[in-house]
Amino acid sequence: MAPARRRVNSLHVAVIGAGAAGLVAARELRRENHSVVVFERDSKVGGLWVYTPNSEPDPLSLDPNRTIVHSSVYDSLRTNLPRECMGYRDFPFVPRPEDDESRDQRRYPSHREVLAYLEDFAREFNLVEMVRFKTEVVVVEPEGQKWKVQSKNSDGISKDEIFDAVVVCNGHYTEPRVAHVPGIDSWPGKQIHSHNYRVPDQFKDQVVVVIGNFASGADISRDITGVAKEVHIASRSNPSKTYSKLPGSSNLWLHSMIESVHEDGSIVFQNGKVVQADTIVHCTGYKYHFPFLNTNGYITVEDNCVGPLYKHVFPPALAPGLSFIGLPWMTLQFFMFELQSKWVAAALSGRVTLPSEDKMMEDVTAYYAKRESYGQPKRYTHRLGGGQVEYLNWIAEQIGAPPGEQWRYQEIDGGYYRLATQSDTFRDKWDDDHLIVEAYEDFLRQKLISSLPSQLLES
Ligand code: FAD
Repeated sequence: MAPARRRVNSLHVAVIGAGAAGLVAARELRRENHSVVVFERDSKVGGLWVYTPNSEPDPLSLDPNRTIVHSSVYDSLRTNLPRECMGYRDFPFVPRPEDDESRDQRRYPSHREVLAYLEDFAREFNLVEMVRFKTEVVVVEPEGQKWKVQSKNSDGISKDEIFDAVVVCNGHYTEPRVAHVPGIDSWPGKQIHSHNYRVPDQFKDQVVVVIGNFASGADISRDITGVAKEVHIASRSNPSKTYSKLPGSSNLWLHSMIESVHEDGSIVFQNGKVVQADTIVHCTGYKYHFPFLNTNGYITVEDNCVGPLYKHVFPPALAPGLSFIGLPWMTLQFFMFELQSKWVAAALSGRVTLPSEDKMMEDVTAYYAKRESYGQPKRYTHRLGGGQVEYLNWIAEQIGAPPGEQWRYQEIDGGYYRLATQSDTFRDKWDDDHLIVEAYEDFLRQKLISSLPSQLLES
């Protein structure tokens, strides 16, 4: 007798957002025979990578009723990862077509090339036909075993629809987190969050203090040095005695965190140095924010931990009907979106079975306990960093996909190392050419490209 075949469900699924996560989620859901509607409040695909010179009127984005500008991309932004490891697995981030002079061929290309890549991806897989542009999701809530999605189009017309499942892909780089600085209420200078930073012109001849020294902080401080009088970076991850002049600029200093700021405009650092500053730029990250989600308090965001979520994707009591793609950070984003999306699509069709609600909850509790035992703050719940290989390979295993390629993991490790140790040059100087060759040979072997790029053949 032939083995019994598992029944595969074909569901009606809403995806919120047509950025890098929502696009690949839509593709994977459709591949699994679900019918998909992607809600996108912008008029284009690409999400964060749709650059706009406009920023929000409130430079710290504190007003909950402000008009939201989604993108946090600044004009000079280039990727912070090498392109070979950054793309989706089966649609590598290579210049397309290879000989198109108008495309940015660099290993760390500009944000415009990332958007072009996402547009290529959407075109290649006919994804745009699933997207309802200029349509914002305003409410998502359970309705019996299904989900009610209320959306509003650009004419302000609301619509309620029922879906079998909702996949949340709304991004998490739009709602700024602002550093707490003692004395800030009486400090007379200007403040801006990196979300609203586009170009350096407004800082001409100023003394600027940038809080935060990860990717955006390191980039923006260097961008500003070209026009400002002095730029001082304050970072809480630096020891309290930190004080050094940074290479590559004559007017850039690194400090420990700010201790206090004062009415006379002065800023005192923990290292004892004092500067009179005109502006503070907060490069202090973002908050997860789901203003549309109504789960009667089941899902909460506390100190930037979204939970409870099994493996950062499924809320145990609401799985698989509700899922989140793209929450973890310090990882290979697009690759992770692709794996998570395949997992969600297969869990919805029934091809992959999730553990029971209790077992998922046990796993969440154990994960939180492990994080605490390492002394990591709650806000690091979704930070993968060193745990990314285990996490990504685990999801790959759930869906029967091969683990991530060694060259991919080595590239991101090396990339982070260079970012931390040579933040002024990491995009143009590297010592891992052999990994580029491995990556392209892999793409060729899998017929994802038709030939090796000419630079590789020449070298
Ligand atoms: P987004 O790209 O933000 O897309 C979310 C989409 O959802 C948007 O189109 C938005 O309009 C839509 N949306 C939101 N709410 C609603 C709603 N209620 N209704 C309808 N639509 C809605 N990653 C890398 O891999 N490499 C890099 O070099 C890199 N650089 C970065 C630089 C900066 C400054 C930042 C902030 C992030 C960077 N990242 C980088 C991470 C980046 O966020 C991810 O790569 C990725 O683009 C995020 O995709 P997403 O789809 O999750 O979110």
